[in-house]
Amino acid sequence: MSVACNTVKMTDKNGDLSFLNQETTQWRDAPKEPIAYASKKETIMLVGGLTILQDKLIETALHSIGENFVALPNPDFESFQKGKAFGNRGQCNPTYFTVGNLVKYLQDLRDKKGLSEQEIVTKYAYVTAGGCGPCRFGMYITEYKKALRDAGFDGFRITSFAHDKGIFQGKDEVEQLLNLSPKFFIILVKAIIIGDIMNILGYKMRPYEVEKGSVDNAMETCRLIVSEAFEKKTNLTKALWSCRKILAEVKLDRLQPKAKVLVMGEFWAAMTEGDGNYNLHRFLEAEGAECIPQPVMNRLMLSIWEAERKLHKKEALTVESSKKVDFSNVKSRIMIKLAKAAVKTHFTLYAKAIGLHDYEIPNMEKLAALSEAYYTLDCEGGEGHLEVAHLIESVKDNLSHLTISVKPFGCMPSSAVSDGVQSLVTSHFPEANFLSVETSGEGAANFYSRVQMALFKAKQSAKEEFEALTVPKHVPEKVNNYLYQPHNSMAGSAAKLVESLGV
Ligand code: SF4
Repeated sequence: MSVACNTVKMTDKNGDLSFLNQETTQWRDAPKEPIAYASKKETIMLVGGLTILQDKLIETALHSIGENFVALPNPDFESFQKGKAFGNRGQCNPTYFTVGNLVKYLQDLRDKKGLSEQEIVTKYAYVTAGGCGPCRFGMYITEYKKALRDAGFDGFRITSFAHDKGIFQGKDEVEQLLNLSPKFFIILVKAIIIGDIMNILGYKMRPYEVEKGSVDNAMETCRLIVSEAFEKKTNLTKALWSCRKILAEVKLDRLQPKAKVLVMGEFWAAMTEGDGNYNLHRFLEAEGAECIPQPVMNRLMLSIWEAERKLHKKEALTVESSKKVDFSNVKSRIMIKLAKAAVKTHFTLYAKAIGLHDYEIPNMEKLAALSEAYYTLDCEGGEGHLEVAHLIESVKDNLSHLTISVKPFGCMPSSAVSDGVQSLVTSHFPEANFLSVETSGEGAANFYSRVQMALFKAKQSAKEEFEALTVPKHVPEKVNNYLYQPHNSMAGSAAKLVESLGV
């Protein structure tokens, strides 16, 4: 068995170089000593890293099929500091936050709940997304292991879903810890989709609530209803219908011209709701904006789209080299079609049930066509061509008054590649109000001031758009609530509502 550290004496061919004659340790992933881990059944799986709501729903959903999952709390600034203390230098912000969050949780188990380090290492494991990539993403698992070793949890098990394999995970160490059955994937995707839908609705409603906190309170009640449906294995669509009634009771005043801000960028930085992006979404809302968040489903749809594109190329090669039908390709195509149909069907069904009417699942073909002239579609890593596509779509379809691309400091796919391309995009679309902003865990004042400057212009656009319309004195309550969502050419929600009334 390999050991964690390997000692190397540094010498040259002619003998010792005394100043170099020091011990260097080589990194090894495996723990120093063999560990008698708890069985799969007795292992407690820790998860986290999506939105707060999704992490909680995933925990409940997986419990309902007998999986022992616990959602970690949302990463905060203390998590970041622990990530920095135990991690390597020069890592990405999401690594520091998520690794530090895990270390913090395990230290609490040890220091507050009295578990020994050995108990923690043998009984717990962590599931995250991993995979190869043209950036630091490929090193995430090693970073986790290194930080955990240095924090006193050498040998703690980390397992990952390859983010680009979806339902095609290999029979490797993931399967040693997880029951990767279709049932597992279906319930997981359902929890993610419902979480996305509820998050989107929350962002649509919160800026217009008459009573502060009423949307969050209603959403929490809905979360409990959905969780109960997962736990008791009752009908999720029915549960969402009950949520619809609760949300419809929340008083809104949608005749407020708020700047609509599309928040996109690097997956984790754009999606997280906390110190990881300086609470960007809540900050924007407090400054008088309405956010369009990036649902996790976008990443899911991108992975499916990438798999389909690769398959298409493989099939073209197979046809060229042989006349025989490759049945593995046929099987993959069927699986991709099923995955796409399942995501779309469930999203549409659940969205209708809870009352989210004016949201469409991202059309990956359309987004690819929009960005193709600027960004090669074969370039994977990060969000690929999607950042460029989102900006162009936002301008062409008048979806927002401001597009913010948020990313960790020095993010290779987002800061280095996409933002380089965005300069060309903004020169071709000068009407775009675009802000690219980096997070580093520190330097919040600079971050907020840049966002505020871009938001100022967006607010003016929203106001001008609204004031150009004849605003009715009274809007019936049932029209003013969230269930009524018109489709038209305006960007702002208030302007959309007024235009649809045809005053
Ligand atoms: S996408 Fe950016 S933030 Fe994420 S691992 Fe790669 S370089 Fe780091």
